[in-house]
Amino acid sequence: MIDVYWDNGIVVRTNNFEIMLDPIIKTNKISSVFISHAHRDHIYGLLNEYCLKYSTSQTIAIGEVLTNKKIKNVIPCSYGERVEIQNLELHFINSGHVFGSAALIIKNRDVTLLYTGDFNFSRSLIQEAISPIECDIMITEATYGRPGIVFPPREEVYLDIISWTAKMINNGFLPILLVYPLGKAQEITKLFNKFSSIPVVTHSKISKINEVVRSFGENLIFYDLNEDGKELIESKDCVVLFPYNCNINKLRTKYPNSKIGIITGWAAVYKNIKNVDISFPLSSHSDYPQLIDFISKCNPKKVLTIHGYAKELAKSLRKIGIDAKSII
Ligand SMILES: [Zn+2]
Repeated sequence: MIDVYWDNGIVVRTNNFEIMLDPIIKTNKISSVFISHAHRDHIYGLLNEYCLKYSTSQTIAIGEVLTNKKIKNVIPCSYGERVEIQNLELHFINSGHVFGSAALIIKNRDVTLLYTGDFNFSRSLIQEAISPIECDIMITEATYGRPGIVFPPREEVYLDIISWTAKMINNGFLPILLVYPLGKAQEITKLFNKFSSIPVVTHSKISKINEVVRSFGENLIFYDLNEDGKELIESKDCVVLFPYNCNINKLRTKYPNSKIGIITGWAAVYKNIKNVDISFPLSSHSDYPQLIDFISKCNPKKVLTIHGYAKELAKSLRKIGIDAKSII
């Protein structure tokens, strides 16, 4: 018997074990937590000193940089690793979302549960895609789970980003790209490193995470905005990465001769995002067809949806004969 419910995080309870998945508060109600990745809305579980934290070494390292704290009481896990606990097996796999992101499989004698966390069913330059797992219960994110949300092929968007950047430099503008500091920033740094000779200058929030990723062996080449990137910016012969939530008016004032683009999956949903010159629909999540494809391949008996278009995704799944409901 495995019981699943929402209580400021997903609680999974068996007869003798309880774990909270990605709590959204600094909870101390439960003694064990799983943190799927180091995006801000998923790392509250790292902040509670006393509970036991299961996460990948990469996520813990990024969490320490983001919270500026040494995280205690952790069990670092690798992709493919299995941990036995109270007649259960916890199995950690790559979720394809961002550097270090993991999905969790909880298995007892009768039931296999898969918690996807945020996941991507398409391969990026940084992460392999998630692999489907046969399961009985699946808890899946539904960020883009509304019918009709479809991303263009990743390679096409990669090409568009490089072409636009080269064109801006050629026309004497400083190209600025707004990205998520964890995920898109590493992917775009690698994109320019691998397929162009355009130097990448990064805001300090991005530099810090890029450094952690580099410490795990990913060869990212970038120049910090306030250090060796200064001269490059003056020359305008580079691309600059800023966090997606930067104040665009301030950026335009500081860099009057710039053009600003944003890279986000929401560009496939909304025409006008912020006050930018261009937007590129690239996401670290799966789009709607990928969600349906992945879920179908896992062949679950029951699907519980969370985040984003949770209700819409559950409805679509029921239409194709899969028992599904939103849990928040
Ligand atoms: Zn995320």
